[in-house]
Parts: sequence; C-alpha cells; structure tokens
Amino acid sequence: MPDIFQIVTITDLIQQLDADAVGREMHALAAELYPFCRSITGEGLRETLRAVQKHIPLSLREVPSGTEVFDWTVPNEWNIRDAYIKNSRGERVVDFKKHNLHVVNYSVPVNRKMSLAELKPHLYSLPEKPDWIPYRTSYYKETWGFCLSHREFVKLSEGEYEVCIDSTLAPGNLTLGEALLPGDTTDEVLISCHCCHPSLANDNLSGIALGAALAKRLAGISRRYSYRFLFIPGTIGSITWLALNEEQAKNIKHGLVLSCVGDAGGFTYKKSRRDDAEIDRAAQHVLNTSLAPYRAVDFIPYGYDERQYCSPGFNLAVGCLLRSQNGTFPEYHTSADNLDFIQPRFLGDSFAKVLSIIEVLEKNRVWVNQNPKCEPRLGKRGLYNAVGGTRTGAFNEMALLWVLNFSDGEHDLLSIAERSGLAFSEIARAAEMLAGAGLLKQHPA
Ligand code: ZN
Repeated sequence: MPDIFQIVTITDLIQQLDADAVGREMHALAAELYPFCRSITGEGLRETLRAVQKHIPLSLREVPSGTEVFDWTVPNEWNIRDAYIKNSRGERVVDFKKHNLHVVNYSVPVNRKMSLAELKPHLYSLPEKPDWIPYRTSYYKETWGFCLSHREFVKLSEGEYEVCIDSTLAPGNLTLGEALLPGDTTDEVLISCHCCHPSLANDNLSGIALGAALAKRLAGISRRYSYRFLFIPGTIGSITWLALNEEQAKNIKHGLVLSCVGDAGGFTYKKSRRDDAEIDRAAQHVLNTSLAPYRAVDFIPYGYDERQYCSPGFNLAVGCLLRSQNGTFPEYHTSADNLDFIQPRFLGDSFAKVLSIIEVLEKNRVWVNQNPKCEPRLGKRGLYNAVGGTRTGAFNEMALLWVLNFSDGEHDLLSIAERSGLAFSEIARAAEMLAGAGLLKQHPA
C-alpha cells in the first residue's frame, strides 16, 4: 500500500525519472497540437490551451482587443476557416487545408480573381530550400499572403487565379493560459512558453510540451517555491501579462523561457539580463556537469519573451533554455520544423535538464557549519566510509568536506558545487546528511 504521507521531493522525482517515457509523452502532445492553426489570438490558440488543460490545471484569461498594455494595444482577434488559390481549371494549387503555413498568419480576408502578376507580390517561397514552406506573419500591418514551396511557386503559369482567404480580423480577445502551483513561499519560479506558432514543432510545440510535462510533475511534489506557468502568445502575450500583473511579477525570483527544446542539437542557455543571477548560475552548472557540449550566450534584447521579462522596468532573473538557438537552424520557421525534427529522446533530455535546474533552485541555501574549528570527526557520526549497501548508498565523501569547509554563512551550496567541480545534487545531499548529523544549520537570512 502506498504511503500517502510520503513527501516526494524534486530529488525523488529526478531519481525515479524515465526521461524517454516523458519524452514520448511530450512528443504525443506536440503531435496532438501540431494541426491547430495557432496565432497570437483566436480559436487555434484557445484550442491549444484547452488541450493543455487536459493535462494541467491551466486557467484561461481573455483580454479584450483594444486593451492598452504599456506601449502596446491588444490587437483584434484573428480567425481563419479556409484559404486557397485556385487555377483557371478550378484546382486548388495552394490549399490552407493541406498545411496551415500556406497562409500568412493574420492575413485579412480576400476573395477575388487576379492575374499571376497581381498575385505574385503576395507569395512567399524559399528558393534555397525549394521543398519547404516558409512561415510568415503580419500581425500589425493589415495585408494578406500565401506561402508555398519554391517548387510549387515556379509551376504557377500565367492566367487568372481565384484567391480566397476566409478569415476574420475583428474585436475579440487575446487568450492567456496560466497555472500557479503554490509552494512553501510566495517567491515564484516562472516557466514561460509561447503558444502562437501554427504547425511548427521545435519552435514552439516543444516548449509547450515541456511546460506541460513539467507542471504535471511539479504538481505532485513538495515545493519550496511557487511555480507560475505561462502559456501565452509571443511578445504581446508577455507584455499583456506583465501589464496586468505588475505587482505579482515582483514575486518572480527565477524564471526560464522554454523554446526549441526537441531537436538533436546541443543545449543553448541564454543568460538573463542580470548575467549572474541564480538561474544563470544554476542552468550553467547543470549543463557544465552534464559533460555534453553546450553554449552559454549573453543576454541580447532579441529572441523570445525574455526580452519583456528582462526589460529594464522589470529586469527579472529570467533566462532562456534552448537546444539549437532560434534562427540558427535551417528548418527554423519553415515546414521542415515538423514532428520528425523533434524527437522523444531529445525532449526527454531537455525535461531532465530543467528538473535538475529546478533541483538547484529548490535546494540552494546557505548553511552554517556548527563545528567550524578544525574538521569534525565524521567517522563517529557514521558519515565516513558511508559506501554502497548502506542507507546512504555510494557517496563521494569529498562533498562532505567541501560543504563543511565552505558553509561559513556566506557561500551557498551552488557556489560550493561550482568551486568543487562536484554536481550540485551531490553537494546538496552532503548538506542534508550533515544537517541530519547536527553539523549544519540553515543560515537565518
Ligand atoms: Zn518563432
């Protein structure tokens, strides 16, 4: 019979993790969401958030078009039912129903006949990748257009075309998805992902899938921090959330924006604007100790929603975790960023890394050695030679010595892990053992 009083910690979660199984679950969610025609507003966005609601307690908030949010205005809501270009024989040569990237996202309605010359300025293709459909948007300029493979583009012959985009752009709402998992403190960890791209997998279904898998797992553990998950349209979504929650945002102590976490590339960590915030140190420590190559890049005011969280008026400690960085892989913003481009094992690996980063945040503390004058005798406390088979299992005793020496009320466990070259999880476990033996006390601050 399971012990219902057993408290599952982040460390238990990591030790019991089947990353491949979580990766498969994430890929399945991405596959379910892939067909929806998402945008920064509209039914595709809502349908996506409702699908995520089946997994986590996400609340949806509708913000009316026209709402002023700092220097921006919530736009009219965009919805689309059908779109096509028909040739003179009545054949659909470009068909939104086959791929939602075929329509420039936020296209205004159009329904008329025109010549190829008239149509061409509204067509987008990629001559250097002739089989791929590009992804284009026009959120703030009212226009329309179609995207198609260059191979299809060059096949278009002179003649009259029937062009139809059955869309509406009218006052409605912008939808924000939000879930808060309360912790022991009101200090928050923000996990944010954008939900506005149509059929694109790495950017951005992988981020949604990771956010959902994470919220689901963290809901079942004891938490020091409160965790706020935002599933929001890129840019305007984070601006809107920040404008409506300016006071609440002060509780955010650490945060991660998640995107492009399903491809085969190594990890990229983009630092917060603060550069050496705890989240920056935690993420880099976890990636460092994983031994696989990764890139740490400095904050730049371009990219995802970290731009808004790190704007100077907020300056939140929010970094961005990716595998291949947005804009650097050829499949980025094309139909080749599909469900084959993201794979369960990479999604699962990304999930495991985020859990390890969260473990650092949850367990990083300053402790004080209660026996600071020369080394305490560990043997008489049962802490030395605590090898495999004992309750504590195989253990690196160096971690005990590092923690004892630097627990002087100034160094946190993360800095001890950084300095010793040992994994944070080992350092944290050593601290727990030493605290259990009465050799450490938590620093009151
Ligand atoms: Zn994008």
